[in-house]
Amino acid sequence: MKKRILAYGRLNDEQLAQLGQDFEVQTFPDLASADDPAFRSALPDAHGLIGASVAITPELLEEAPNLEAIATISVGYDKYPVEELTRRGILLCNTPDVLTETTADTGFLLIMATARRAVELAELIKRGEWQTGIGPEHFGSDVHGKTLGMIGFGRIGAAVARRGALGFGMRILYTKASPKPELEVELGAERHEMDSLLAEADIICVTVPLTAETEHLIGEREFALMKPTAIFVNIARGQVVNEAALIEALEMGRIRAAGLDVFEQEPLSPESPLPHMTNVVALPHIGSATHETRHAMAQRAVDNLVLALRGEHPINLVNEAAWRSV
Ligand code: NAP
Repeated sequence: MKKRILAYGRLNDEQLAQLGQDFEVQTFPDLASADDPAFRSALPDAHGLIGASVAITPELLEEAPNLEAIATISVGYDKYPVEELTRRGILLCNTPDVLTETTADTGFLLIMATARRAVELAELIKRGEWQTGIGPEHFGSDVHGKTLGMIGFGRIGAAVARRGALGFGMRILYTKASPKPELEVELGAERHEMDSLLAEADIICVTVPLTAETEHLIGEREFALMKPTAIFVNIARGQVVNEAALIEALEMGRIRAAGLDVFEQEPLSPESPLPHMTNVVALPHIGSATHETRHAMAQRAVDNLVLALRGEHPINLVNEAAWRSV
């Protein structure tokens, strides 16, 4: 009997056909939550899951005794109970590398848009308020030559910093990462304690994963340490930042602006003050959302799942310990 896959991510026809060669595939194209009754009733017979943005809890795993592997179409895996998966010998595969450059582009998009007030000034034209030349009350601030503070300096953090250092002549500081001697040589990056980075950086960009240690890593104390002219950009996960503290810092003018791709609650409620603030550029979690990159991510997830269900080592395995226990 063929192994069974539940596919709840966006896969194209070729990718579904690739899975269908060796496996039976049941699709859930618009799955919003793993509590969906049809999805839950399919779990007991599932050997593989492939998808994104749906939280898989330890309780759900109780209902999936045949599960061998999960392929998430993302690099972040905060929606999965890694320890529990490992304990059960279930492989968890993610999609690093293929989205690094596109997500870094989004980081720089937010840096540029906030610094130069691009969205706010585009809105001004739409309202018919461009009557005379734009004056100092609408001037932005330079990005080139400024100091960029990276909180998290892994694949995406380094790619943002590379754009800053090599494209915009920025000084690069980093924290919350092990020493990176090669990047110190390549980009002149300097490793700082968190507090001194917060105090010195003109633009601060968060790229740490969401873990128990990084939840609410940035809050009231951290915003208070930033320059009043600081621009804060988060392209990691919303829960890394205490959003109430961020809103207060923006409202009180403790920082100048924020560029946000991620939020504590997604989708962000239109009731949130954030998207209505003129000094905030808010995007609907589009870090990796280009045709090319989403295709590459889905393909990587398909390849990972096929390998895992065939008993071969997947290209990207989060929980290596589960492989050893297979
Ligand atoms: P990565 O290569 O693993 O880099 C993570 C960085 O964070 C590393 O420098 C790591 O330190 C550091 N870090 C600090 N505290 C950590 C902790 N408690 N646990 C683990 N790492 C910690 O990951 P990446 O590929 O750059 O992706 C980073 C995150 O970006 C993802 O986890 C995801 O949440 C987010 N992301 C968002 C989008 C979006 O659509 N907005 C798209 C892709 C990714 P070391 O250098 O010492 O390992």
